[in-house]
Amino acid sequence: MKLKQSVASLSGIGAQTASRLNKLGIHVIQDLLFHLPLRYEDRTRVCPIASALPGMTVLVCGRVEFIDILPRGRKGLICRISDDTGFISLKFFHFSANQHNTLKPGTLISCFAEVRHGFAGLEMVHPNYQIITNPEDFTTEQRLTPVYPLTEGLSQATVRKAVKQALHLCLSDPALLTDWIPASLLKKFAYPSLAEAILTLHAPDETVTVEALQNGSVPALKRLAYEELLAHHLSLRKTKSNAKIWLAPQFTADKTAIQQFLNALPFSLTGAQNRVIAEIEADCLMPHPMMRLVQGDVGSGKTIVSAYAALLALSTGFQAAVMAPTELLAEQHKRNFSAWFAGFETQVVYLTGQLKGNARKEALQSLADGSAGIIIGTHALFQEAVQFHRLGLIIIDEQHRFGVHQRMALRVKGQQGDLRPHQLVMTATPIPRTLAMLQYSDLDISIIDELPPGRKPIVTSVIPAERRAEVIDRINSWVAKKRQVYWVCTLIEESDQLQCEAAEKTAEQLTLALPNVRVALIHGRMKNADKDAVMQAFKNHQLDLLVATTVIEVGVDVPNAGLMVIENPERLGLSQLHQLRGRVGRGDGDSYCLLMYQAPLSDTARQRLGILRDSNDGFVIAEKDLELRGPGEVMGTRQTGAINFKVADLARDADLLATIQQTGDQLLHESPEAIQALCDRWLGTSTDYAEV
Ligand code: ADP
Ligand code: MG
Repeated sequence: MKLKQSVASLSGIGAQTASRLNKLGIHVIQDLLFHLPLRYEDRTRVCPIASALPGMTVLVCGRVEFIDILPRGRKGLICRISDDTGFISLKFFHFSANQHNTLKPGTLISCFAEVRHGFAGLEMVHPNYQIITNPEDFTTEQRLTPVYPLTEGLSQATVRKAVKQALHLCLSDPALLTDWIPASLLKKFAYPSLAEAILTLHAPDETVTVEALQNGSVPALKRLAYEELLAHHLSLRKTKSNAKIWLAPQFTADKTAIQQFLNALPFSLTGAQNRVIAEIEADCLMPHPMMRLVQGDVGSGKTIVSAYAALLALSTGFQAAVMAPTELLAEQHKRNFSAWFAGFETQVVYLTGQLKGNARKEALQSLADGSAGIIIGTHALFQEAVQFHRLGLIIIDEQHRFGVHQRMALRVKGQQGDLRPHQLVMTATPIPRTLAMLQYSDLDISIIDELPPGRKPIVTSVIPAERRAEVIDRINSWVAKKRQVYWVCTLIEESDQLQCEAAEKTAEQLTLALPNVRVALIHGRMKNADKDAVMQAFKNHQLDLLVATTVIEVGVDVPNAGLMVIENPERLGLSQLHQLRGRVGRGDGDSYCLLMYQAPLSDTARQRLGILRDSNDGFVIAEKDLELRGPGEVMGTRQTGAINFKVADLARDADLLATIQQTGDQLLHESPEAIQALCDRWLGTSTDYAEV
């Protein structure tokens, strides 16, 4: 098929250009069709100079009034042109003698560039210009000019020419390009066919404006964005079904062990925990790898659920690995798992980069010979040369910190012979259903939608920083009641160091302001042993007030700490704030969260903090955050590495997500061959990860 031929078969494309196109992911002719413009230039009409405003990118025509070389120091060529309506200056910092000679006064030229404020009125810097020798011959472009993503050594002209040929091929025989979107759907949304949509985006006709292309309201763009989102969704589903082909150790549920385990717990499980445990058990009793995501609000008790899964592995003679995003959290898991498995004949090993010498050798040895059944660590766990005796289960806590790719890579790393371990991931970040379609479609989802009994809702208030003195009084009386406090410092800078410095300062101030309160500091730059010591002292109530950076965000569990002050909450995402706040409200006493903002607040910020004050439900908060801040924030893509979409823009196209899964179902059912085709078309070689 012609569209599947190498781009080198097009005229004007030699081996070198082809290899440059390859760098952009363009290998065959069809790839050119899906190499969509980044933006467009409007050279379809001449703008009267008087109507050109700063910031506009326009085509103007005028006669040269004068041309001059700027004096030394500000070396450059300046040229002023005018039409019937006004004048504008053109500036060139690099120029040739020839340029100087041909732009003689009186010469008619057309220029295309962005208009800016200049020294003497408006100007264009390095405009794209042409000399018009015969005004009769001068024509404007018929269509908007596409501007393509390039790579070194490749020019717009080359790409435009190549795309033109590809479009020509495609139009000569539209059947070459299969339209996988069901006709009923095209009709329902009034979407154009695939070939039409592609033509519109590469060569928009006069009905399409640059603005419409930018704000995404052009149906052609919507349609392609839809198809692209669908392709990403389908590729995850493909990953899921591919993984089910692998074998996994079939766990057995050892009734005696389970009874022993449950009897030793200081509480009984909630209905939601029991339901999720049953879902996990059903998966692990099957001979194929479980890939399950457990979503549950902060404090809903996910850890014990994962420990139950580890118990299944252990009692079948397999090992379980628990991976946490921070050392702090890993240490906490180590304590919990050690307590829960104290009555069982196995070791719980904690492996960090800190562990050295003999201790390390012993830990590794116990994993290799199987005497350690549970290993806990950070993601470094899988980067190290750890040999497992028989790894049967991987537990990943606070999954949103790990990207899709890391998740995939893990599955392969844990492979033993032809067996792959079961995988259980846990997150406290509730992902709205629509976004889960794009992020978690490779996983089955269980939801713990119930908190352990006796939890009282956290009372949240929003107060300005001017009332700091009142807050400090409140801490005093709170500590007098033998309760503990967190004080969280945030900083917008991503810099660790600045965060830590700010926290250090705050800790000093609070120590002075609160002489009867035992204050300590914890931040990400402290040595692990020191962090651990502080955390342990806080847990033992040898400290009253813990000043912290957002390192305490995940997992930390001290039930007696029931008051949290968060400084500058307006700087954080709602879901992150909700997680932070989840450190309190873990015991049976009252608990409070004070969001101490820096005035003035923007309307959105005020609204966002209000949501947090009014709701304790992570799912509600995530949905609202999605509405207010867009999906990027909710998905935490900054940490996980955003999906690189070609057309789709999650902030702009979020409305498209609602029907993606349904269309996915329909395609799987009606035309399963569409899935690979769509993945090839949109994800190209990046579908590799789907194969692991
Ligand atoms: P998260 O879901 O945020 O990870 P954890 O697993 O840390 O929550 O549990 C929070 C706290 O609740 C822990 O102290 C845990 O021991 C306790 N917990 C878990 N399940 C129950 C339960 N069913 N009843 C009472 N307390 C529970
Ligand atoms: Mg947790």
